[in-house]
Amino acid sequence: MLSDRARKIKPSPTLAIDSKAKAMKAAGEDVISFGVGEPDFDTPENIKEAAVKAMKDGFTKYTAVGGIDPLKDAIIDKLKADNGLSYKRDEIIASTGAKHSLYNVAQALYGPGDEVIIPAPYWVSYPDQVLLNDAVPVFVETFEADSFRVRAEALEERITAKTKALILNSPSNPTGMIYDRKTLQKIAELALKHNFYIVSDEIYEKLVYDGAEHISVASLGDEVKSKTLLINGLSKSHAMTGWRIGYTAGPAEIVKAMTNIQSQSTSNPTSITQKAAIEALRGPQDFVAAMRTEFDKRRRYLIEELNRIDGMSCLMPEGAFYAFPNTGKLYGKKAGERQIASSADLALYLLEEARVALVHGSAFGADNYIRLSYATSFEDIRRGVERIREAVGRLAA
Ligand code: PMP
Ligand code: GLU
Repeated sequence: MLSDRARKIKPSPTLAIDSKAKAMKAAGEDVISFGVGEPDFDTPENIKEAAVKAMKDGFTKYTAVGGIDPLKDAIIDKLKADNGLSYKRDEIIASTGAKHSLYNVAQALYGPGDEVIIPAPYWVSYPDQVLLNDAVPVFVETFEADSFRVRAEALEERITAKTKALILNSPSNPTGMIYDRKTLQKIAELALKHNFYIVSDEIYEKLVYDGAEHISVASLGDEVKSKTLLINGLSKSHAMTGWRIGYTAGPAEIVKAMTNIQSQSTSNPTSITQKAAIEALRGPQDFVAAMRTEFDKRRRYLIEELNRIDGMSCLMPEGAFYAFPNTGKLYGKKAGERQIASSADLALYLLEEARVALVHGSAFGADNYIRLSYATSFEDIRRGVERIREAVGRLAA
């Protein structure tokens, strides 16, 4: 009955775990969730007010498919100010969340047999979006010893005549790592030499710590800019996950194709959200800094605590809001009759026995790890990590 396409993919594991944790909470269970990556902060008041004003002004109708010009201009000014990049309106398209932006890129670029290189660990939706477009995800492993940055040599080994694109995500979900200029330069050289696109997902740009610098690969030169689809959005930076707004900046021809695709699928992103997004981009930015300071405090605490748990070790993430501890040493251990053989076993054990929700590393293509989102209150982090310590302490060889 179902199409091959529908049968090839699985539901987003991060959203699935979030639903499960929310259902357990609704049933009265005391679950602490490190599951979904969603800021626990409320959307700032000035942004909400812009939306209310839009509604009251009757700005509630269809708009231009790729977003209204004032929104495109606000995005253009942001890309100039933050990333030193110059784009024109026909090189920008706003969509219903960055996930939708990525999907439009996939629809516009990938076709049967095309290969799309994805460094692992990767964000959960990248491979499935490639599969949804009959293309082939090609994984390239990265290592903790390299701070999970892809080695240029390893990347080059995966490039073939069919390579259409590479998906880069810096700061990274799930590892929290950031690409440095030198590595980006090597990647850019490879993209130009072998003529493939770089899909650069920069949604965590604003969440970088210890003075780290976010560099957009498109800013390394006009040539690489012409091969880059830059994806960003307001879900993470302005706590706007439910508003559904993201955008792409890239070559006009591709943006036009994405706009055609969007015109036949979802049409414009919500008119009200577009007005709110303009306020988010142009209004005061102190909210972003305050949120970052709070995440930073949680990051330090959580990573230190995870490293104190026997059998776990965790790199200090440089950005985003995830901890990605190595849990490989726990596999093979038992709690009574229950054997922990994988990240999925460990995540299920912690959910059932410690009432802590988190995501198994295999969802990100890295079974030796689990992911904890620290976009949750400090108090929950404190209690949650204690529960994990206690449950892990009960595991025996
Ligand atoms: N990219 C990454 C790496 C993400 O973690 C997310 C999280 N939702 C997205 C894209 C999509 O964000 P949204 O659709 O909410 O803009
Ligand atoms: N990106 C977030 C996460 O990784 C939200 C969930 C999703 O969009 O899949 O948890």
